[in-house]
Amino acid sequence: MNRELSIGILGGGQLGMMLCQASKEIGINTHIYCPDEDSPAKHYSNKFTCKDYLNEKEIINFSNSVDIITYEFENIPKETLELINDNKLRPGIKSLEQTQDRLIERKLLEKLNIPYAPYKELNDEEDFNYSISNFGDAIIKTRRFGYDGKGQISVNQKTNFDKNISSLFNQSIIEKKIPFEFEFSQVSCRDIFGNVFHFPLTRNIHENHILKHSYAPLDLPNDLEEYAREITKKIISDLDHVGVLTVEFFKTKENILVNEIAPRVHNSGHWTIEGCSSSQFKVHMQAVSGIKIIQPKLLNECHMVNLIGDEINDWINKKSDSDVNIHLYHKNEIKNGRKMGHLTYIKDKNIL
Ligand code: ATP
Ligand code: MG
Repeated sequence: MNRELSIGILGGGQLGMMLCQASKEIGINTHIYCPDEDSPAKHYSNKFTCKDYLNEKEIINFSNSVDIITYEFENIPKETLELINDNKLRPGIKSLEQTQDRLIERKLLEKLNIPYAPYKELNDEEDFNYSISNFGDAIIKTRRFGYDGKGQISVNQKTNFDKNISSLFNQSIIEKKIPFEFEFSQVSCRDIFGNVFHFPLTRNIHENHILKHSYAPLDLPNDLEEYAREITKKIISDLDHVGVLTVEFFKTKENILVNEIAPRVHNSGHWTIEGCSSSQFKVHMQAVSGIKIIQPKLLNECHMVNLIGDEINDWINKKSDSDVNIHLYHKNEIKNGRKMGHLTYIKDKNIL
């Protein structure tokens, strides 16, 4: 038998942690590289390097120590990925480049003829005035480094233009606030042979711009489900992406719009650990290892709840049972708005 593959993961948060847990089950060794000692993933990886992303020598050593490198979040500096041989990096640099900047992401959607919310680049006061008079309620979003609603400000025609807004010029977009019916996401995976498969759709509820609940599977009328999959397939294929990619959607009265592309495993796919025959984490590690992916089967209807900030205190000493699965992220510090763990309730067992 071949020796075990060794896969390096850039980023050591809870997504990295669950990638490491899945890897253990399928016989893959993991090496986490992340700049933060308080890293959920370090408790489960075979190796852990705590160094800065821009430390060239350490990135090269890391790259030499593994067979393949993947990433668990999109805010890794592009310079870091440029130090890694293209053949070793899955997904490739294109997936990160096209999605870590909201303006470039929207241009990609435009190129692919995929619907998204009306927006404008925010470069001067005129852009601001134009947007609030044409969009009504709007959201200013920083182009880069936003997550969990960070870097977003809600504005409308009553908002006074001031320094807080002008300080965001040349690094933000301003987008129409969409009166959506609900939000949902499509988690999909592409293998090195170009095969794409889709997990069941998930309905998502955000509180204070942070994902709070996911319900799966979501039942959408057949033509819309087909359309969401077609959109996701277009994106994942255009990027030559290898591994899991997630598309977040708004369902409006008339249509569906893409809100965001995440070139990685996603919080709205956590339920697949218990809900499917293979989780988003396993199939990601298999896909980046070069294994042909088999379509996972839906096993259970699930409801995932994020534990945010001090909500974790109610669950630290509890044990999972047949109804609820408790996932703790082992973060040292509890902060307001920080994802500390999640619960997955199995609603209907063996629905298929
Ligand atoms: P995350 O990391 O959770 O994906 P993020 O910081 O990348 O968040 P977005 O996904 O753009 O930011 O926005 C977070 C949430 O804010 C959305 O899921 C949605 O609930 C709300 N939101 C964002 N843009 C809009 C919009 N144009 N209209 C209405 N609601 C919006
Ligand atoms: Mg989002």
